[in-house]
Amino acid sequence: KTFEELGLNEDLLKGIYNMGFSKPSKIQERALPLLLKDPPQHMIGQSQSGTGKTAAFVLTMLTRIDYSKNEPQAICLAPSRELARQIMSVVTTMGKFTKVVAEFAIPEQLPRDATRVSAHIIVGTPGTAVSLITRGVIKTSAVKIFVLDEADTMVDKLALGPQVLKVKRALPTNCQLVLFSATFSDQVRAHVNNLAPGANKIEL
Ligand code: AMP
Repeated sequence: KTFEELGLNEDLLKGIYNMGFSKPSKIQERALPLLLKDPPQHMIGQSQSGTGKTAAFVLTMLTRIDYSKNEPQAICLAPSRELARQIMSVVTTMGKFTKVVAEFAIPEQLPRDATRVSAHIIVGTPGTAVSLITRGVIKTSAVKIFVLDEADTMVDKLALGPQVLKVKRALPTNCQLVLFSATFSDQVRAHVNNLAPGANKIEL
């Protein structure tokens, strides 16, 4: 399959070729048709890093955004600032030919007195995201996609499950959940059940 055949729009195809990708990776070829389905469906994917999962969920966020609305429509949580930065760089490179505005929710990145984030996409770590949402800096009423990258690290290693759930509770109930995890411990499974009851897990 080609990226064209996956139904991505012109601006995103330019962004993809701008990254130097010529064809979808296996996981992109399998996940994108599911991720882009309408009505949106939750996706719980088991996959390792290095497979191209970042591009899969970034392309999904960039496809679903309504660029005429200046409010957060996608929130992506990662276990570390470093990973959040890597995701952000994929968002800006892939979204180069779109009108996307993306903002970090990681410690020390936003000005202390910021009162409102009008970015389309927020990429951050769970604790900072909770604090910005609680303070009303990030408005969540228009968020339609919630991405969790390396969920096992957030839940098992860093015990950030409660923060992830707090973010989830602030989002509209029909929000699409996209979760990637390399492993599925009982704890991760329990969180998945809380976040998206009944969602199917697929191995990518
Ligand atoms: P990830 O699994 O998201 O960490 O991606 C692993 C690496 O694969 C990154 O360096 C990406 O830039 C690269 N990559 C992702 N998708 C593709 C693709 N379709 N073609 C070539 N390289 C890719």
